[in-house]
Order: sequence, then structure tokens, then C-alpha cells
Amino acid sequence: MISLGSVHTRRTDWRTRPTLAVYVARPPPLRCGHKREGQGLGAQVPPHLCPITLLAPSTPAPEPLHFERLALVGTGAIGTAVALILDALDATGDLIVVDRQIFESPNVISYSLGTTEDAAARRPKVDIVKVAIPSMDVHPVHGTIDDLIAQIDAGEVSIPAIALGAVDNIEARYDIQRIYADLVLDGGTGGRAGTTVGLHEALPSGPCLRCYFPTATATRTVEQRLHEATGLSLERIARGDEPITEADLRDLTPEQRERLQQYLGRPVCGLGRLLGLTTVDGDDSYQPSAAFVAQQAASLMVGALIARTRAGSPMPIRQIQYDTLYGPQPDMVDGRRPRPDCYCQTRADIIQAVRTQRAITGKRRLSNTTVA
Ligand SMILES: [Zn+2]
Repeated sequence: MISLGSVHTRRTDWRTRPTLAVYVARPPPLRCGHKREGQGLGAQVPPHLCPITLLAPSTPAPEPLHFERLALVGTGAIGTAVALILDALDATGDLIVVDRQIFESPNVISYSLGTTEDAAARRPKVDIVKVAIPSMDVHPVHGTIDDLIAQIDAGEVSIPAIALGAVDNIEARYDIQRIYADLVLDGGTGGRAGTTVGLHEALPSGPCLRCYFPTATATRTVEQRLHEATGLSLERIARGDEPITEADLRDLTPEQRERLQQYLGRPVCGLGRLLGLTTVDGDDSYQPSAAFVAQQAASLMVGALIARTRAGSPMPIRQIQYDTLYGPQPDMVDGRRPRPDCYCQTRADIIQAVRTQRAITGKRRLSNTTVA
């Protein structure tokens, strides 16, 4: 039996209260098909978003669900889904939320939070998350990881015990690792069809996120290659079904604009094929991510968060990955060890010194707060 703490919604309406599920090693039947007809752009068919049924017993998420020194980095498709789940679970405690971006109208479709009014008001994404989880004391950082680290080192906020990573590139994952929280739960989507979800549990002593993603170039996805080739943001590429508009070209360089001009009106998800990116290494099945994929990644993260903060027998550090079109599989959980040549191993003394200093700063902050 696989013991995997995870949260999933039991009804197709994902805005209902999730339950804590314990998946068993019994794969669900393949119920979802995602068939492409033809190869041309005009033959794109929308994905069939039928929900995967998890054939597993489930128990309600524990109550009360209280977290201290929790951080959420990234409030895109996965991050807003994490926030939605935390709110649905009536979580309490404190939460630092980090993102430098503004909510925009295309996000309304692909995110789990945010409205057209939020987009019109150009609200920071962190503020939308703050409003969405009224039961938690949310400290928004409308900025970068470096801004958060500056606040930690200045004693304005405590170093997070657990950081939930909901970012879409490797460099950002390296940044999250630099917080040196006790534990990082990194969620992600990807794979050849954009339907794979993954969870990486990382420690400052290793395995860290650098152990999981040793080089930025060796693991570039089709989405990242498309981003580099066109200048379109990864978020925009994720909304692959939406046709390219003049607005998409606005912030691009003249060369990039010229390159994409001919594809106006065509969906982004066909660009990889047109630009030859999806055949570089035989990958001809590129499909955009869908909202339900991000929500399953978020479910893995919150499930792991619950599992890691509840009393019980210790679990090894895990890496989890499965394709949402097939559902959880018996072999989707792996243990993970640090890479001997990784920074977390070769400079363990520096990392420990930074963690110790940040802990001291945090304690000083708490005692000052108490006195005040
Ligand atoms: Zn490492």
C-alpha cells in the first residue's frame, strides 16, 4: 500500500470542501481520453476534462488545521489552487505569500481565484490570495524571493518553517531553496503533454531543489523552449488554447513580434510544432496545461503539508509524479537522496550558518513583539 497524504475534491465542483485521501496501490481505470485528430492547427481538439476517479478510501481533512510560519511562493495556477484548498479546509495560522505579478484578465480562466474585476483593477495576485483566505493571517510580499529574504534578515517576518513552492521554472525553485526553510514542498506541472503533476519534498540539508533540478538547461520543457523562442511568458504559453492576439505581442522585441505576427489568431499550443520545438527530441505531443492539472498539483502539496505537520511515524523524503490523464499509479512515489556534488552537500556549513542566523533574528523579533 502506498500511503500518500493528498487532498482531492470528491465532486466535479472543485469549490466544495476537499477531503483527505489516502491513495492505495490500486490504479484507477483509465477514464479520460485526450485524442488529437490530425496534426494541423485547425485540427486541435479541446482536452476532455473528465475527472479522474480515485478508487481509494478517504477521510475528512483533520480539524482544526493550523499552520505556523508557512509560506506560499507563487500565486499562479497552482498557487491560487493551494489558497483555494486552504480556505476550503478552514486553515488557520499565518501565511507569507510571495509574488510580484499583477492579476490580468487571462488569469480569470486558468486560475482558481480572481475575477474580471480583479483584473480590471490590476490587483496584485498576493492581495487576491490574502482576501481569499480570511481564516489565516496572510502577510503578502508583493515582490521577489529576495524581497522576502530581506524582510527575514531584517527581522520583519520569521523564516518560514515550510515553504510551498508553486513556481514554473527552475531558477525560481533555486530562489525558494535560498530561503532555507525547514522543508520545501514544491509542486509543478509539465511533461510532454502538460498533464503531469509532481511534488518534490526538499530539505536544506538535502535533497534540496538543486538536487532535483541540477541544471537549468538539461531539463528544459517544451514550454520553456517556446518561451525562449518567442518571448511569450510561461503563463501565456500555459493558456495554449487561446489564440495569439495583438496584445500578446505588445511587450515583445521587434524580432519576436515579427516572428509571431504570422501566427495571429492561432492557438499558442500549435506554436511549438510550427517552430519545430516539439520535434527536437521526438516530442510531438505538446499540449497546454489545464486548470484541473494545476489543482491536482496543489492537492499533492496540501496533502503533503498536512501529512508533514501531523503527528505520526516519520516518512522518507519523497518525489511524486503522475499523469493526471491516468491518475495516481503504484510506482509514482520515489524516495530521494541528496546529490553528493550539490551545493547543499558541499556548502552545508554555510547553509547551516544562514539558517542559524535567521532563526536568531526570528526569535529576537518574536521577543520584541511580545514586549511590545
Ligand atoms: Zn542539493
